[in-house]
Amino acid sequence: MASTSVQRETVARKALRLYPDRTVEPAGYGVYRVEGREVAYTVDLGIDGGVESCDCPAHKPCYHIAMATIYRARTRMEARRVQTARTAERAARGNLEPLNALERMGA
Ligand SMILES: [Zn+2]
Repeated sequence: MASTSVQRETVARKALRLYPDRTVEPAGYGVYRVEGREVAYTVDLGIDGGVESCDCPAHKPCYHIAMATIYRARTRMEARRVQTARTAERAARGNLEPLNALERMGA
């Protein structure tokens, strides 16, 4: 008999693999609707010190929770990226202002 090694895919790997093809919708206050294979589940990431939960039949940390976590992380990263770009633009404008003032004075 051939020896086979079936490695169980971790919840995190499964979530990363499925993430591009599944819909995650924020419902507010750390609650997300995560598209499962057939139906969508409600995930509560337990912000404000609560416990993470999902209403799917799996009684263990499931990939829906991991997918909601990925969604939240990516959304926050994007928000930070936009904020950083705005701050840099404001700073650049601020640095240019004295030069523009000199130019207006004909210097
Ligand atoms: Zn679940």
